[in-house]
Amino acid sequence: MSVLDTILENITDQVLDTGDTVVLKPVCFKCKTEKTIIVKAKELRAYKNGALIQRAFPNMSADDREILTSGMCGGCFDQMFGCGNGI
Ligand SMILES: [Zn+2]
Repeated sequence: MSVLDTILENITDQVLDTGDTVVLKPVCFKCKTEKTIIVKAKELRAYKNGALIQRAFPNMSADDREILTSGMCGGCFDQMFGCGNGI
């Protein structure tokens, strides 16, 4: 289960069907930084209906997608998997 699935559990269908945009606030599990990601309600709806995250949110940055799937922000992800950047 991804972070986005957990967030979606707290968003009612009403919001998905009526709201223009939804503000997501995932927290990086590693550095505990809260990130603000604004998405379209209809994109969230598409994801909830089973679309892959990269298809549901085609304009989302890789960093935003990372924290919504793995729960890790871009910075922490780079630190863990980046190659030889001196950290
Ligand atoms: Zn982080």
